[in-house]
Amino acid sequence: MPAHKPTTFDLASQPRELGAERTFELGLYLPPLKLAGQDYGFVPDVVPARLALTYAGEGFAATMQFNCRLEGACWRCLEPADLDLDVTARDYFETKLPPVEEIGEEEEASLWFMEDGSLNLSEWARSAIAELLPPQILCREDCRGLCPQCGSNLNFEECGCQPPVEERWGRLREWKAAD
Ligand SMILES: [Zn+2]
Ligand SMILES: [Zn+2]
Repeated sequence: MPAHKPTTFDLASQPRELGAERTFELGLYLPPLKLAGQDYGFVPDVVPARLALTYAGEGFAATMQFNCRLEGACWRCLEPADLDLDVTARDYFETKLPPVEEIGEEEEASLWFMEDGSLNLSEWARSAIAELLPPQILCREDCRGLCPQCGSNLNFEECGCQPPVEERWGRLREWKAAD
């Protein structure tokens, strides 16, 4: 299957009318993510998105909204997990970049996601999603994970493995300390 192209938006050719907001409905491609060495994909990988632009002098204040579902492996047990996200990305994009020596922190968004006056919505979306992700993607909040000794999925079975000796001594010490 041919790889999707990132969704881009021609910002440079938008009318520059101060303060006027214009909105667009578009199909946004969401590229797959790699998290902790695992592959995660969006289902579907093209979602309806709403883009609102307001011209503010040197560039556009932009807001993009969409919902998406991320699917991949649970970080504890490796069974399928999914995550629904309600994303709102807000940023300011300069249509003309200042000389390199004048570029400060505030111009970063334009530098990262703009190329030749065109805004890379897919990359912008990816960065907004990354900020929303929880520290772990789990099949369920109380996933018990895999037994570190035999690899059994502890959500489905009790394997009966005893914790290693080290760990038992640790627990004994804790118990004594609490005594
Ligand atoms: Zn799990
Ligand atoms: Zn076990």
